[in-house]
Amino acid sequence: MGNKLSYCERRCRICAVSFRVKRIPTPEERDAQRWHARDAAPHNAALQALQRNDGAGYDGSLISEEEMKGINTLRCLLQKPADFVPEEGDQDFERDSSCFLTDVAVHQGPYVYDSGPFNTVRHGVREAKITNDNDNFGGEWGMPFHPACFEIFKRVCLKKLGFVDIDGLWRVRDLRGSFEYSMGGNFPPLSVRQYALDDETWHHKPGTEYLAANPVDIPGFQELLKHLSDSENTSKEQSRQIPSQPHTTITSSESDIFSTLPPELLTEILWNLSAKDIANLRLASRSFRTLPPILFKHLIRTEMPYFWEIDELDPRGTDWAELYTLLRRDWSSSLLGLRNRVRIWHEAEEIAEMIRETNSGLTH
Ligand SMILES: [Zn+2]
Repeated sequence: MGNKLSYCERRCRICAVSFRVKRIPTPEERDAQRWHARDAAPHNAALQALQRNDGAGYDGSLISEEEMKGINTLRCLLQKPADFVPEEGDQDFERDSSCFLTDVAVHQGPYVYDSGPFNTVRHGVREAKITNDNDNFGGEWGMPFHPACFEIFKRVCLKKLGFVDIDGLWRVRDLRGSFEYSMGGNFPPLSVRQYALDDETWHHKPGTEYLAANPVDIPGFQELLKHLSDSENTSKEQSRQIPSQPHTTITSSESDIFSTLPPELLTEILWNLSAKDIANLRLASRSFRTLPPILFKHLIRTEMPYFWEIDELDPRGTDWAELYTLLRRDWSSSLLGLRNRVRIWHEAEEIAEMIRETNSGLTH
């Protein structure tokens, strides 16, 4: 204990992003806040604070306050004490584990090792000490993560392991959470140890704003999905083209061996191909010029497991081709939270794989 990690800002053990990421309000927001502060209480501390330079942070014109909602919140895993008693509200995955989950806290106090007070007291815990380190401090030090990242971890765990393995998450931290392990460099990069290679505070590098975007509650995303699943907005002709390469050379029907196959068989072929293979096939054969809309739903489900909203959409009214195009192309520029979700999903997949390996007795 007492190594370098003790002094670092605390970071989410799933996505590796600090809980103390900041945002600099836009000039318009600062003006509005200034007027509001003047009206509320002239010459008060809030106004003085606004007049000071807030220091480092992401440019507010590149990421909104709403998009960053939850970045400074955490909940954590704690080891159950010997006299632990189950209580109402425990989740199924907590019952048979050696850890339990705290409620949510806002982490903005003066000390990086204090979680901040939890919204509700669970199992007698009002506040906890949190660490980036592995378990050298003992069970009373909590393992912190963003509430949204834990939601993603739960989904990935259920998909990969069939259950939410919080003991596995704790064990992986024990195995891979040390500074010495991080500096060893003999293992693939993993979010649970990435932080150790950075400085003590978060760098607000331009272009990395999406790292601070809430990956679950994404402003505008539900409205967009609703628009795409509104049958009135859905194109009558839903068949779409998967983006393909220019200079298409489609064979004539005489030389197209697929032209003799029944539509059911053509669909069957498509079902077993990736989007890239389908695009190539469409270059080679006119038989695949028109694609069934349901194929795009299939592609979304197989290529984008992180898009769990798919099951909430109207299967008949949704323009699946439009949605596929949106998810493939536009998320990186306009939906910062979705871009971050993709990143965190992959991080959680790696963690789940480590858990699976440790459960199988494989060493790391
Ligand atoms: Zn996180």
